[in-house]
Amino acid sequence: MKTLYGSIPDEIESLVAGQGLPKYRAVQLLDWIYKKNVLAWDEIRNLPKEMIQKLSGEIRLTALEPGEEKKAVAGGPTKFLFKTADGHFLESVLISRQDSSDDESEEAVVRGGRETVCVSTQLGCKIQCAFCASGQGKFTRNLTAGEIVEQVARIGRVTGKKITNVVFMGMGEPLDNFDATLRAVHILIEPWGFAFGARRVTVSTSGITPKILEFVKAVDGRVRLSVSLHSSIDEVRSSLVPINRRYPLKDLVSALRKINQDLKRDITFEYTLIADLNDSEEEVEGISIIAKPLRAKINVIPYNPIAEFPHKAPTPEAAERFCEQLKRRGLHVTLRQTVGRDIDAACGQLRLDRARRTA
Ligand code: SF4
Repeated sequence: MKTLYGSIPDEIESLVAGQGLPKYRAVQLLDWIYKKNVLAWDEIRNLPKEMIQKLSGEIRLTALEPGEEKKAVAGGPTKFLFKTADGHFLESVLISRQDSSDDESEEAVVRGGRETVCVSTQLGCKIQCAFCASGQGKFTRNLTAGEIVEQVARIGRVTGKKITNVVFMGMGEPLDNFDATLRAVHILIEPWGFAFGARRVTVSTSGITPKILEFVKAVDGRVRLSVSLHSSIDEVRSSLVPINRRYPLKDLVSALRKINQDLKRDITFEYTLIADLNDSEEEVEGISIIAKPLRAKINVIPYNPIAEFPHKAPTPEAAERFCEQLKRRGLHVTLRQTVGRDIDAACGQLRLDRARRTA
């Protein structure tokens, strides 16, 4: 059965028209789900009971059930585990920051002043990045747009916090679930939906080059694009992000140049820094060659070790040094804290643990 979460105005209008109800009822329903984030039919107050009864026989309101919540140290991120209607688990993270700056930059999203939900887009991930727990687990299926946006609604409701930003950086490769990601983005940014400012929504990709161009055009470049770089050397990048064999750096960078020059859109690179693997002088030089012409920002994230990829995190001093070297080359760099080292919050890790516990 379809769900109201994930539906767009045309679909809800057809639904209410099918019940012989006036069009304005569709507007009310949209408001209840995407603005008030109701999670049960009886929370909807201004619609006739008979209408609710008929609707609930035709469509489900929600697609997820609450799972566990795991909080890191004070001020750290909180992880949420949700259960899908077909019995799978997916995870989302809430990152709360104190800074109340109005700065809309990507750094500010990371640095503070906001409540950022990191959503998952797939159950598992086919990309299989070497350092990522999601990539080690089995790929089960794509999430629906409803399952994606409902993560935002549920976390807002459970915590009572006003969610200010959404990043597509959880489990899964958003552009490998293209249609649902695109629909979810529209629901998040359109005035009839959650109405987030488009610059408060970031979609992150491992680098599916043709899909990047298609996506940027489809959203008219409105939302932020973040690309997982992780190495400036093809051989190293292919060992970390296997899709690099299919879409090597040369193709990726030329697509990003097109986006930056023709469409005038900013790019952010994510760089997971792994001790003795991608922290060399050669990498610093290579990153500079790639990022400088794009005027791209670089988020350096110290590796959060997982059992399946036995490499070390850089020391805090080494991570600082790496960032300083990039900055000296005129690059815009932010050293980010690993999200939730204390709560096994490397991408996909909580779900993997759960799968192991229930296996
Ligand atoms: S890092 Fe992202 S793209 Fe890579 S395996 Fe993990 S979830 Fe997939």
